Parts: sequence; structure tokens; C-alpha cells
Amino acid sequence: MTASLMDGKALAERVRAEVKDEVAALGTPVGLATVLVGDNPASHVYVRSKRNACAEAGIESLHHELPEDASEDALLALVEELNADQRVTGILVQLPLPEQIDEARVIRSIAPVKDVDGFHPVNAGFLLQGTPTLLPATPAGIMEILAAHDVSLKGARAVVVGRSNIVGKPISLLLLAEHATVTMCHSRTVDLPSVTRQADVLVAAVGKADAVTAGMIRPGATVVDVGINRVGEKLVGDVSPDAAEVAGKLTPVPGGVGPMTIAALLRNTVKAARYQAGVLAFPGA
Ligand code: NDP
Repeated sequence: MTASLMDGKALAERVRAEVKDEVAALGTPVGLATVLVGDNPASHVYVRSKRNACAEAGIESLHHELPEDASEDALLALVEELNADQRVTGILVQLPLPEQIDEARVIRSIAPVKDVDGFHPVNAGFLLQGTPTLLPATPAGIMEILAAHDVSLKGARAVVVGRSNIVGKPISLLLLAEHATVTMCHSRTVDLPSVTRQADVLVAAVGKADAVTAGMIRPGATVVDVGINRVGEKLVGDVSPDAAEVAGKLTPVPGGVGPMTIAALLRNTVKAARYQAGVLAFPGA
């Protein structure tokens, strides 16, 4: 193996300790409401980890569960209550939602100032305009990993594979804000390997094991593997194991982007609490 591994787990521990100090220093209560709808086993695991991380950081966790067949109106009514509740400084509705519920509508119903996932169009718009507020956690975590490992972005060629609203698009904007020259790829990209091989920094957010193989990587490039794919009993990323022979720096799966996503969510939760305590001004509020 030639690549050095970018350890997201160790970094996340440092960030979580920092957040704990910030929560204590804030002096006003920080409360994250988590909303889980239905029986998706992965969602249950994710929400449990987020709640545990909150508890460790001194953030009150206020948890709500609705059944798999819950109506959209029931969920919207709950979000409305949470928007109005002073104890709740952040709201996280775990995705995906059951098919009878319009996800985009639910995201729009969350007060932007409490939107710790950063998915509300208001927060997405601020990011687009270069005045970031609450950032989506996975891309924010990736940027911290790159900074902690001295990955230089100014003028670098960055290629992002995947264009979702939660990973691909926001990470592209964050890389652009750091002056990388960014190319976004997706399922219709023609000759993907010829594009990815130009990358100094390659982000794989595809959701398919082995979507990025060694032959698609420029020797020495920094590779960020966002994917979480279940293959038999194992969890693997989007980047195949042979990539470690070619890449210069690489995030492992597990232990790379995943832990930093939770750490970045905690950062957002404190930031949202600051907005509500009036310590920080939410643009336009
Ligand atoms: P989506 O399914 O929403 O998006 C996947 C993207 O990959 C789409 O833009 C799609 O293109 C593109 N794509 C699919 N197949 C190909 C292909 N063969 N070649 C090029 N592009 C392709 O996924 P998410 O962005 O939500 O998540 C991506 C991965 O990251 C998943 O494995 C997910 O589990 C993981 N993830 C991990 C997190 C973490 O904390 N570590 C957090 C969030 C996600 P098109 O738009 O054309 O369909």
C-alpha cells in the first residue's frame, strides 16, 4: 500500500471534545430533536449514534418516533411543534422517509435556523451564494478531513462523482469556495475514468462498491471515499481496495468520512444554538 490513510475517527474524537467545550462555554441549553419515521434498520443505527454523540457532548437529545405508516400531516405537525419549542435548538428528521411522505416538503417545513442537516433550501441557497450558514454534515466533515491532512485545494483539480443534494452538490460548492477547479460527474458522464484520472482530489459519493478503481486514479491523488455499501456481512466504500496502491492519501471505510459526519452534525448543532441565543446572527433573520 502506498496511500497514507486519513483517519476520520481520530479527528472526529478531537472535534467532539472541542464541541463539548463549546457547549459548556455557551451557557444556554443546546437540544437536538431527532425524528425517526418507520423501521429502516440503518436509520435506527444512525440516529442512535447521533444521540449518543449528543449525550457525550452535553447536548440534550429529544427523540421522537413515528410509525412506518405515519401520514405526512402527522410529521409536518410534529416539525411545527419542534420549530416552536424553545428547548429544541436543532431538528434532524432522519432520511429516507417512507414513500407516502414528500421528503422535500418536510425539509422545507423545518425552521432554517434549526436545520442542523443543512438541507433546507434557504441554507442550501446561502451555501450556493458563498455565505455558508448550517452546512450539510458529510461535506462539512470532508472539508475538515482535507484541512487536517494539509490537502492543498487552491488551484487543485477536484472531481466529485455523485451529484446528490446531501453530498455531491454541496461538497462541490465547498471545494469551489476553497478555489479548487471542480468537475461534477454522475451516471451520464461519458468516459468517467478519463475525467477522474485528472483529479488531484477525487471524491466518490456514488453508493456503489468498486465504483472507483485503481485505474481511475491519478498516482498520488487524494481520494475521499464517501460510500457506505453493504456487501454480504461487510461495509465497504465506493472505492476499491486496490486504490490504496495508487492514491497518495485515502479515507478508509469505515473510519473515514462516517465519524466526521457525526462530528460535523454536532458542530452544526452548537452553531444553530448560537443563532437562537443571539450570539451569532442568522443572515436575514
Ligand atoms: P445518491 O444515490 O443520492 O447519489 C448517487 C450519485 O451517484 C448520483 O448523483 C448518481 O448519478 C451517481 N452515480 C450512480 N451511479 C454512477 C455511476 N456508475 N457512475 C457515476 N456516477 C454514478 O447517494 P448519496 O449522495 O446520498 O450517497 C452516496 C454514498 O454515500 C452512498 O453510499 C451513501 O450511503 C453514502 N453516504 C455516506 C455518508 C457518511 O456519513 N459516510 C453520508 C451520506 C451518504 P445520477 O444523479 O445521474 O443518478
